[in-house]
Amino acid sequence: MADTETHNLSSSDSSVVLRVDRHLWFEDGNLIIAARASKPDPSAPDDLLYFKIYREMLGLHSPVFRQMFRLPTPVVEEVIDGVQVAQLPDDAYDVQSFLRFIFCPSWEPQGTYPPDYASRMGGALKLSVKYDAENLKEHIFSRLRQAWPRDIREWDRRRWVIDDEVSMKMLEMGKEEEGCPVPPDEDFEPHAVIAMIRESCCQDELRDVLALAYYDLSCYPEGFMELPSGYLIEDDFRRLVTGRAELVNLLTIYVQLSPSEEAKTYCRNEECIDARGRLWSELWGEFAAQPDCFGFLNRSLRRLQSSRFYAAHVCGPCAEKLERHIRENREKVFKWIPDCFII
Ligand SMILES: [Zn+2]
Repeated sequence: MADTETHNLSSSDSSVVLRVDRHLWFEDGNLIIAARASKPDPSAPDDLLYFKIYREMLGLHSPVFRQMFRLPTPVVEEVIDGVQVAQLPDDAYDVQSFLRFIFCPSWEPQGTYPPDYASRMGGALKLSVKYDAENLKEHIFSRLRQAWPRDIREWDRRRWVIDDEVSMKMLEMGKEEEGCPVPPDEDFEPHAVIAMIRESCCQDELRDVLALAYYDLSCYPEGFMELPSGYLIEDDFRRLVTGRAELVNLLTIYVQLSPSEEAKTYCRNEECIDARGRLWSELWGEFAAQPDCFGFLNRSLRRLQSSRFYAAHVCGPCAEKLERHIRENREKVFKWIPDCFII
């Protein structure tokens, strides 16, 4: 665990060596919290980690802690340096994330789409739920909903910003060659978001965020099978595969035009019919192989809008109709992402 150091202190009857979080060790703190790491660090002398904080501030955020401190005999196991120690049953990493969120404001990643939000804030969310820290929980919810927007226009903007950041990063790393895949763990952690929501039992409240994270992860067809272990469970893999298939199916049904619909709605000018046929078969020929199907349709829209296709003789009114058809159905199916991935 990063940012820890050892302190020599005196306990009730002897001297002790503690491993402490150096960002969460306030000399004038009035409560020491201890927690055990479920995945111990082999280089550490002990898997217990200590934090010295202010009990009133903790109680301010969580009625559970407030109540705990009011009990006539608080849950205290020992006294170190004259300060009571409360050992929590939670994992030390989770406690660290939760306490840093409260006591070190800069711990929470800033920006609209912070890439490491879930890995930093997973523990904070889990314990905010467990200890009933309602305001903290709501705050994390709103950050997640902002980063995983439900509205397709905001989703397009997100994609655009992230793609830009990723290509900047690739350029810096000297990997600018075309088509070089970006593994999701270097991207925006959809797998960590999925694990975070499951572990904090917020699947209902964050249903949309969860579904969008599944969709995002399903855009890395090779990548999600190679993720570091511990994030996804079998149920997630099942959802990724079936949800993805369902989504592609819906997009195909809604966005594709049947020949009779085509004949009814679009002009009969031969040049335009030919050009539309070419455009359409090009689009659907590529569609099946597209990892990001909504992104692909968005690019197709832009292609359609560009004068290239007017020059290829899709007439103006038909190009406009086609564009509206793709845009409206893309928007409609995007709303169904939660129904596809979460049954
Ligand atoms: Zn036409």
